[in-house]
Amino acid sequence: MFNLILFGPPGAGKGTQAIKIAEKNNWVHISTGDILRAEVSQGTPLGLKVKAVMEAGHLVSDELLIEIMESVFVKHAAAKGFVLDGFPRTLNQAQELDKMLLKLGHPVSLVLSLEVNEEELVNRLLKRAIEQGRKDDTEEVIKNRLVQYHHHTKPLIDYYKEKKLFKEVYGVGTMDDIFLSISKVIEKTR
Ligand code: ADP
Repeated sequence: MFNLILFGPPGAGKGTQAIKIAEKNNWVHISTGDILRAEVSQGTPLGLKVKAVMEAGHLVSDELLIEIMESVFVKHAAAKGFVLDGFPRTLNQAQELDKMLLKLGHPVSLVLSLEVNEEELVNRLLKRAIEQGRKDDTEEVIKNRLVQYHHHTKPLIDYYKEKKLFKEVYGVGTMDDIFLSISKVIEKTR
C-alpha cells in the first residue's frame, strides 16, 4: 500500500494534482475539504457543526477530522494506496494518522509538498472564488486560511523531514508539468 500525503498551503493545487495521481495509480483520493463541504451542503449534523468554522477559514477540530479519517480507512479497506489531500493539517492529526496507519500495517510512504509563493496563492484563491463561488475564498477568509496554515500546518514539515519522508516539487507551471515532476518523485520512492 502506498500512502501519499499531498502537502502545501491553500491554493497550492493539491486537489487538482491529487485527482490525477489517484487516477494514474489507482489509489483512493481523500480530500477532507471535499468531505466536509459535502456534509455542509447535505445539511448533516456534522455539516451543521462545521459550517461556520469553515466559512471563517478556521480549522475544524482534530477530533472530528480523526473520526472522519478512521471511517475513511474502514470504508476503503481494500485500497492499493491513498492520496491524502488536506489531511493531516496539525501535528496532532499527523500523530493520530501514524497510529491509524500503524494499525493498518502501512505507514506514510511519502509527503510531497507543492511549493508556491504567497502572492501566487492569493491570486489563485481569488480567481477560484469567482469561478467556483466557494464561501471561504473571500480575501478576508483567505488571509485567515493562510494564517492557519503558517501556524498549525507548517510545523508538519519538520515532523516529516525528521522521518525522511518530506519531498518538494515546484508548484508553478502547467498542470501537466507539475504532474510530471510529482510522478517522477513517486516513482523514485516506490
Ligand atoms: P484549501 O484550499 O485550504 O486546501 P480545503 O478544501 O482542503 O481547502 O479545506 C477547506 C476547509 O475545510 C479548511 O479551511 C478547514 O476549515 C476545513 N478542513 C479541511 N481539512 C481539514 C483538516 N485536516 N483539519 C481541520 N480542518 C480541515
